[in-house]
Amino acid sequence: MANSEIMKDIVSLAKRRGFIYQGSDIYQGLAGTYDYGPLGVLLKNNIKNSWWQDFVTDREDMYGLDASILMNAKVWQSSGHVAGFSDPLVEDLKTKKRFRADHLLEEAGFPVEGLNLTQMTEIIQSNNIKSPDGNPLSEARQFNMMFETAVGAVDGDISYLRPETAQGIFVNFKNVVDSFHPKLPFGIGQIGKAFRNEITPRDFLFRVREFEQMEVEYFVHPDSWQINFTMWQEVIKVWAGKIGIDLNKLSELEIGEEDRAHYSQRTIDFQFEYPFGVKELFGLAYRGNYDLTKHTEGSGVDLAYLDQETGEKFIPHVIEPSLGVDRAVLSVLVSSYREDDLGGDKRVYLDLPFLVAPIKVAVFPLLKNKPQLIEKGRQVFSDLKSELSFVMWDDNGNIGKRYRRQDEIGTPYCVTIDFDTLEDNTVTVRQRNTGEQKRIAISELLSYIKNN
Ligand code: ATP
Repeated sequence: MANSEIMKDIVSLAKRRGFIYQGSDIYQGLAGTYDYGPLGVLLKNNIKNSWWQDFVTDREDMYGLDASILMNAKVWQSSGHVAGFSDPLVEDLKTKKRFRADHLLEEAGFPVEGLNLTQMTEIIQSNNIKSPDGNPLSEARQFNMMFETAVGAVDGDISYLRPETAQGIFVNFKNVVDSFHPKLPFGIGQIGKAFRNEITPRDFLFRVREFEQMEVEYFVHPDSWQINFTMWQEVIKVWAGKIGIDLNKLSELEIGEEDRAHYSQRTIDFQFEYPFGVKELFGLAYRGNYDLTKHTEGSGVDLAYLDQETGEKFIPHVIEPSLGVDRAVLSVLVSSYREDDLGGDKRVYLDLPFLVAPIKVAVFPLLKNKPQLIEKGRQVFSDLKSELSFVMWDDNGNIGKRYRRQDEIGTPYCVTIDFDTLEDNTVTVRQRNTGEQKRIAISELLSYIKNN
């Protein structure tokens, strides 16, 4: 099947089955925004909870944080975002529509690495590159991607919706050190919303204007950055596999010096093979001591760290694993989407790991008008629900249709209560991927589900 078809099918399944809707849908939407529906929010929360557990709670060297989205504008001046957080923009001279200059060049087959605005403009003009609507283009210029907002009712100060969660961590570095006196290396992790006024939001959840990030700033002695970089590289890979990202579609791209931030000695993009191309999924960067140095200069507060044992005082260096929640959701959907033939019927299913599946088990009474089946089924349902939380009751339509509905949302197990259940306390458990059915005693059901 063509890749564009697969993407269409995933977007349509996501909408139909209550995973992801266009933002402001009944008003023709707002470009670059999506709303997570009842199943989408479960999937997304499972991904975020798993990240929080693996990157923060299960580690003794990590602290959690939930900083404000709105910050003093000086934060963004010190970090360099006010001056430099921009993308190259060109305008269609006829329709006034705006496009990313580098994306148009890439699509026309030109390498864009390291090009400045003048060079981009030259290539566009000398090769007569037109807008997607076929019209001439303006010169390339920088466009700052931060959303500005006024703080306070009258003559308020200007601030920004944060374009990354990282700065909330840097400005709390000293607070955490003062509260906990952690030894290096240690890190602070945070999950939260970020906003970027992307020139051309596109490719479903891939490039949106409002999204979530899961970020760690890991503070190290400058001598040990390499070993800690490799450690996080491994943690990211293992976690990606755990949430169901197809590791055959995951690759690592070493970013060359010309494309790295000037303070970074190493950056890796974890790339994923989306149906629309191989593009960034997560990032891992060694940021030197750039951020804490800039905030020391900007705030006048000394952010140096004193090693109690050696007496050495220095500004720690930073390793930054930066993971997008929405790109993770998209990659999990792409990795798990399957079409096959089961028992002569074409079907669609999501091969989601138990860990992230929004619904873990569905319980069906064979018939909905037989009170004994309902009563028994309800018992099984509430016992499972008290253990697994995410259990669905479905008594609508024939069993085959109910299986298909659960397949489409990635439910690993379906349990059917039939007349034999009333006699011998066994149920039919059906496995999603194979369609294989087994008779299991109700007393064994939970351990069967948990251990398979
Ligand atoms: P890109 O080059 O694709 O714009 P980036 O290099 O600017 O991404 P970072 O600033 O490194 O991205 O942000 C860290 C992570 O946040 C990315 O790896 C990605 O997962 C996520 N992310 C960034 N921008 C967006 C966006 N517009 N929509 C969805 N996720 C995003």
